[in-house]
Amino acid sequence: MNPFSALECLPQDPILGLGALYQADPRPQRMDLGIGIYKDSSGFTPILQAVREAERWLLKHRTSKSYLSSDCVPGLDNGLRQLALGDHLAAELGNLTGVIQSPGGTGALRLAAQLLARLSPRKVLVGLPTWPIHVPILERAGLSLQFWQQQGADQGFDLAALLLALDSLQPGDVVLLHACCHNPTGADPQAHEWPLIARALAERQLIPLLDMAYQGFGDSLDKDADGLRQLFSQCPTALAALSCSKNFGLYRDRIGALLVRTPTARDCQAASSHLSDIGRCLWSMPPAHGGEVVSHILASTELRALWVTEVDNMRMRISQLRSGLVAALQEAQAGERFHSLGRQRGMFSWLGLNPEEVLFLRQHGGIYTAGGGRINVSGLRPSQLANMASLLANVSR
Ligand code: PMP
Repeated sequence: MNPFSALECLPQDPILGLGALYQADPRPQRMDLGIGIYKDSSGFTPILQAVREAERWLLKHRTSKSYLSSDCVPGLDNGLRQLALGDHLAAELGNLTGVIQSPGGTGALRLAAQLLARLSPRKVLVGLPTWPIHVPILERAGLSLQFWQQQGADQGFDLAALLLALDSLQPGDVVLLHACCHNPTGADPQAHEWPLIARALAERQLIPLLDMAYQGFGDSLDKDADGLRQLFSQCPTALAALSCSKNFGLYRDRIGALLVRTPTARDCQAASSHLSDIGRCLWSMPPAHGGEVVSHILASTELRALWVTEVDNMRMRISQLRSGLVAALQEAQAGERFHSLGRQRGMFSWLGLNPEEVLFLRQHGGIYTAGGGRINVSGLRPSQLANMASLLANVSR
């Protein structure tokens, strides 16, 4: 008897499959705009200088690799709390907030999903399109999802549609929101919309679950956290999955954290004990290396300043490439269809292509985009923008 014969092979993750197709493409003009990792001008994902310095320091000073606690490497909780909430709100909320370290933002989402399942919300509201992994993480924790379309007719964030969807929720239900640099659309709420969202959730006694995987890639480290801060300030119960993968370039070291705000200090102790319990049965304790690197950078005035400059540089390069594509599209007279690109923020832009159009770009230009025409803007090559714009002008005629 072979128990595995009953298992069908699952399809490969489409983004990872795309990488293999790109590798096999011999055309020199090819561009890999699929997977969401930052690339520099030579197409390389570098180790940040601040990370190298922190690793050098750790190599010299780390004396043991014995187990740490299941919650956080020393100092990381305060560092990440302050980065996400800012000095003022972090101090104001004090012992109403807890931080538990996780393997990446994905691990933090998993912790959040399992904690929420213990609070028994009736529904979790999820805007579409979203990062594809959100849905299985939440559903596999036993949560029921309700969807709304977050992209309006102009491809921007549709506040009216969100407010309408909130009306069908009950106190204690959960609302998943991308804190900044929405993946896959690059369309975030505008600055003046966040206070309205925070008030609407607070009035309805809903629980925000924020996913902040790209802090620093939109406008600045502080501005990108503005929506999260407003929600944490107004809603007595709030969760945020933080990732250090992109802004510290620590992708494979798997470092993230769940930030939780509760109505009382006792609730925070209770929530933290449940999160430790959940983490203990998932991974026992999270990998220490990335956490120690981040903790050291955030605690050192010099390394923190170096890191902020490096994040600023990544963001500025992405923003210049996006502007370059917008200009090339205008030059190629690609029309109204791609007008929203200039307003998009963060690592991704959304071209809104159908599967045939995605294939057309790949076959005729060696341009590899994810589904819907989501592009990793940092993978654009300035020398190929005119070619890409003329192909996009073709598909939209
Ligand atoms: N949320 C979003 C929206 C993401 O795009 C990603 C990474 N692709 C994550 C969470 C998780 O990131 P990681 O687990 O690599 O930190």
